[in-house]
Order: sequence, then structure tokens, then C-alpha cells
Amino acid sequence: MNNVPTYTLNDGTTLPAVGFGTYPLRNAEGIEAITGALANGYRLLDTAVNYENEEEVGEALRRSGVPRDQVRVTSKIPGRHHAYDAAIASTRESLQRLGLDHLDLHLIHWPNPSRDLYVEAWQALVELQKQGLVRSIGVSNFTEAHLRRIISETGVTPAVNQIELHPLFPQAEMRALHDELGIRTEAWSPMGKRQGQYDAAPVQAAAARLGVTPGQVILRWHVQLGSVPIPKSATPSRQVENLSLFDFELTDAEVADISALGRPDGRLFGGDPDTHEEL
Ligand code: NDP
Repeated sequence: MNNVPTYTLNDGTTLPAVGFGTYPLRNAEGIEAITGALANGYRLLDTAVNYENEEEVGEALRRSGVPRDQVRVTSKIPGRHHAYDAAIASTRESLQRLGLDHLDLHLIHWPNPSRDLYVEAWQALVELQKQGLVRSIGVSNFTEAHLRRIISETGVTPAVNQIELHPLFPQAEMRALHDELGIRTEAWSPMGKRQGQYDAAPVQAAAARLGVTPGQVILRWHVQLGSVPIPKSATPSRQVENLSLFDFELTDAEVADISALGRPDGRLFGGDPDTHEEL
């Protein structure tokens, strides 16, 4: 059922090439949607303290019956918990809510540079990894300056940087930087959410040629860029569709045409990590 390949990260752990985004899935419907995603074959779940659904994710994991060691669970430290002790406490609280003894991947959610505490949060993640509470450590929404600073201050390179990435904002420079530094790119809002380019000409043309849906074309574009998309869907048929990406291939020209939909102002809500603050 699940023919999703995995990447080996720079710390030797593995990450499925596609994951499942869980925001804003909550309550009984949320548990149902996440349990369904696991039943449909997803083995990477993406949550965060600020999604207020870590309990639902843990419950879905238990209900699914999928063995713990087959699933990669990701959470994220919020901006208000960046100070060293707060980041350690935040992670322990996430584990408690999830009902787990370790996270597979834990990220700093946003750098919040005006508070200037993300280096402390990173030092806390380095320690949590040593203690075994977190297997892989990474960041989200980090720019080149933020990445280079935490690497130079700690000597530890993040395994992952989860960034906004979709056809309207293809992030060529950040992807090239990640390749140079050995960081795996994860893509948030990979479909482009409400601005999904399902009707765009190159997406439609590839879908027609390959006999797949526009959503599958967009997600396959991610796969061929080497980015790990984490699409969210509460719709069972879309959950299946969004994971069925490994028996067709876009041409290089199709990949380039979809990337050409990108615009400098293509961010969905102006989430420039140098100025956007999320606590
Ligand atoms: P997505 O790009 O995943 O879009 C989700 C929307 O697309 C939903 O409305 C869903 O509808 C719809 N959809 C899903 N699949 C298809 C399809 N095949 N065809 C048509 N429509 C489809 O955006 P998100 O913002 O949800 O991002 C995904 C995940 O990224 C989040 O859940 C979260 O885990 C993470 N994230 C991380 C951020 C960060 O700062 N690190 C910021 C934002 C998101 P429906 O559910 O009705 O099927």
C-alpha cells in the first residue's frame, strides 16, 4: 500500500518523502482525519504546540494500531518558549500531550529574530537530542542568516528546514542553500492552500498527459525538487491521492514550467521570517 520512499537525513535517521499536515485538525473530527491518514499510509505527521492538537495526534496514533517505530512524529517549539529552560520544558510538555517518550523530529517553529532567542532554543534542541527525547532536530522558517548563525554558534546543522514552498513561491535560493548545507527541505502549505494553482496551465497540461489530478502534479513537483511536502487534507479520497505520487513522473520541462509560476510576492500571507512574528 505504502510505496513512499524515504530520505536519509544528515544525522542518519530517515524521513518519508511525503508527510501529513495536521493544522487545523482538532477534536473528534481531527482524530478521525489523522487516524484515516495513518490508515491510508502516511508515516510522517506534522504537528506543533501552536496547533493545539498534539493530544489528538497522539490519540490517532494509538487508535491507528500502526507500530510507533513506523511513524515519524514532528512537533515545533513556539516563539514564546525559545529561552533555553522554556524550550526544554516545552518539549517535555509536548511529549506529555502526545503520550510519547520521544519525538522523531522537533523544530523551532519561527525564528522571531526581534526576540533574538532562537540560538538558545537551538541549544536546547541539541541537548534534547543528546538525552534521546528527540531523535532529529531542525528548524522552520529560517533564512540563510538564521541557519548560518545557529550552525556557527553550536557546530550542529539542522536536519530539516520546513519553509513555505508551493508553485507561487518555489524558494529556489533556499533549496540550493539547503543542498549546500546538507539540510532536507520540508514544504509547508505545499498545495498553496487557498491559492492552490490547480487550474494553472502547466499543472493542467501535466495532469492531462499523465492521467492524474492537478493536486498530484503539484505534489510530484515537490518530490522532483527534493522537497518533502506535508499536505493537509480532511478528505479521505484526497489523502489517498496526495500519497499516490510514485508511479508517474513529470518531465524536466514540466517541472520548470510549474516553477515558473513563482512570483517574488508569492507568499500566502506575507510570512517573511525576518519580520513575521509568531509566539
Ligand atoms: P496545504 O497546501 O496542505 O493545503 C490544505 C488545503 O488544500 C485544504 O483546504 C485541503 O482541503 C486542500 N487540499 C488538500 N489536498 C488537495 C487536493 N489533492 N486537491 C485539492 N485540494 C486539496 O496547506 P496547509 O496550510 O494546511 O499546510 C500543510 C501543513 O503544513 C499544515 O497542516 C501544517 O502541518 C504545516 N504548516 C506549517 C507552517 C510553519 O510555519 N511551519 C505554516 C503553515 C502550515 P480538505 O482538507 O478539505 O481536503
